[in-house]
Formats: sequence, C-alpha cells, structure tokens
Amino acid sequence: AKKTWRERLSGSAFAKNLGALFSRKPKLDDALLDELETALITADVGVAASTDLVENLRRRVNKREFEDATQLLAALREALIALLVPVARPLAIAPEHKPFVLLMVGVNGVGKTTTIGKLARRYQQEGHDLMLAAGDTFRAAAVEQLKTWGERNRVPVIAQGSGADAASVIFDALQSAKSKGADLLIADTAGRLHTQSGLMDELSKIRRVLGKLDASAPHEVLLVIDGTTGQNAINQVRQFRAAIGVTGLVVSKLDGTAKGGVIFALAKEFGLPIRFVGLGESLDDLRVFDPAAFVDGLLP
Ligand code: GDP
Repeated sequence: AKKTWRERLSGSAFAKNLGALFSRKPKLDDALLDELETALITADVGVAASTDLVENLRRRVNKREFEDATQLLAALREALIALLVPVARPLAIAPEHKPFVLLMVGVNGVGKTTTIGKLARRYQQEGHDLMLAAGDTFRAAAVEQLKTWGERNRVPVIAQGSGADAASVIFDALQSAKSKGADLLIADTAGRLHTQSGLMDELSKIRRVLGKLDASAPHEVLLVIDGTTGQNAINQVRQFRAAIGVTGLVVSKLDGTAKGGVIFALAKEFGLPIRFVGLGESLDDLRVFDPAAFVDGLLP
C-alpha cells in the first residue's frame, strides 16, 4: 500500500527533534523557544527561516497568546504551512505547447534519472503522448537507464552514442517530437562535466538550441535537489539558476536520512515552486508537493 507522508517522514531529524522536545510537556518559556530554534536549525530549516519563525512565536508568547506548549506547537504548524503554501504550485503541462518541453537538471546522484522515469509514467497514465531525450550524454549508464525504461514502458527515447553533444540530442528529440505530434518531451541533462563551467555552458547551449525550434522552450526547467544535502542545496539552486534559469524544484530523498527541513530553507531563500517531492524509491513515492501533509508528517 502507498505509505503515508508521516510514515515516510517520521525518521527525519526534524520529526525526532520536535518529538523529543514536545513529548516532555515543556513549560512555555524562553528556554523552550531557544531549544525550538536549535531543533529547527539542526533539521536543515536554515538560520534565516528558523530565526524568523521563532521570533514570531516569541512575540506571540510575550503577548500571552498561548496557554501552553501544545498551543505553541499548533501555531508553529500553521506558520510552517504558511511558509510553504506559496511554493506549493503544481506543474501544469500547458496544452498550447506542442510539445511541452520539460528539462530536468541537477547534479549526479540526486535522483534525476529515476525521477524522469516516475514523471514519465505519471504523465503517460494521465494520457500524455510523450517522448524522452537522453541528454545526459556524459554518463553512458544514464543513457542506457533511460533507453531500458523507455522500452519497458513503450515510450520513445531519443539518444545518440555516448559522448554525443547533449544539445544536439535534445534538438533532435524536439524535432522528432514535433513531427510525431507528441505533447510532452522530457529531456535529461548531464549532472557533471569535467568542469563546472563546462556544465553551465552545456546547459545554456541547450537553451539556445531549443530556442531555434520553439522560442518559448523549455517550458519548465525542473531542478532536482537531494533532500539529504542540507544547506548545500541552496548553492545548487543558485548555480543552476545562473546557468539556465530554474522554474521548479523536485526535492528527492526526503525519506531515510534527510533531516527534513531543507524545503523550508529553499522556500524562504528562493520562493521557487516545489512541484514534487520524493518520499522513497517506488513509483508512487514521487508526490505532488502538499504543504499540510508534509508539515503534519514532520510534527509530533
Ligand atoms: P541521478 O544520478 O541524479 O540520475 O540519480 P538516480 O536517478 O540514478 O538516483 C540515484 C539513487 O537515488 C537511486 O538509487 C534512486 O533509487 C535513489 N532515489 C531517487 N529518489 C529517491 C527518493 O525519493 N528516496 C529514496 N530513498 N531514494 C531515491
């Protein structure tokens, strides 16, 4: 059966820290607020967001708005959800684009290729006529993984030999998708080249080349962030934003060893839409981001 958000998130440092803090029926005082701030920072929420959240709660405690720690926890829940609601904007595959071009970016190992498989399956089930482009030409395994996936699920995959030019693979794929009348093209890209500037040049070349066939493409640049990478996630968003522009995020691996809080730091820092989150390795573990379900999964 599909796991609940809570089942998937309860192992996080976020859930454990706050569980420990509130289970001992603490007094509503400054010490509790300080411990809460530490717990949030330790769980990857980030210093800026944690300080903001706790200072707001402290003001309300001073105004005697809460009678006990349980009411404080309820207020924290609302504040956390409020922080995420603006970024919980699902991806819409706009039908006026033929095809809608979805470019997947992210550093190696974040779950980019498996996320492409899960997304493709989701959109296939929703009735989209889709194609994939094996644009991570730097890694032969990624090309093979995508081809195998495509064969198994009867989705055409456009690929060239390993070491091929990624922009040329994706250009071919868009041409082919146009001629076949596909309505969705999902393109993989490399997550690492010999140099950082190599990767960023390649991504901007992909954008340039796509623009020759469709001035509005790509219609979505989805950056996959590994939820276990902590504050380094912030740097990754900055770099990909500068290189190609990012229109949405997928935060993967929030189950397991993730501390759980990085989404709040991302929301506070960038305000970019969080389209999906990864709560595990199976197909139905890629979920449309739901702030209330997420926050309730983290809180005691
Ligand atoms: P890529 O290098 O970015 O293409 O990464 P892959 O797609 O090959 O994924 C790397 C590993 O992360 C694989 O073992 C995936 O099964 C795993 N993975 C991806 N998403 C999730 C997730 O949400 N939760 C967990 N636990 N593992 C994930």
